[in-house]
Amino acid sequence: MPAFPVDTHIHRLAQRWGLSSGINVEQTEHDLKRLFPREAWNKLHLQIIFYGREFCTARGCDGTVCPLCRELYPNRRRPLTHRKA
Ligand code: SF4
Repeated sequence: MPAFPVDTHIHRLAQRWGLSSGINVEQTEHDLKRLFPREAWNKLHLQIIFYGREFCTARGCDGTVCPLCRELYPNRRRPLTHRKA
């Protein structure tokens, strides 16, 4: 059964990557499910978690550092602010 549970890693990355407003985890789950096809949810869920644990940790990043964010947001000049879940 396809599911896209949102933990703290996914919630944080969805905000940083501009995939969700990040108001709360329920909204993040809703936004991600709207953006990605149902058949990708299970795999994407794990990919985001593992990426977050390895490269996009809670501390020390404002969304302007990695090639991923620089590629996705070439016009991003100012650090992002984050909401807590
Ligand atoms: S710059 Fe890197 S660590 Fe920071 S939010 Fe983007 S992907 Fe994550």
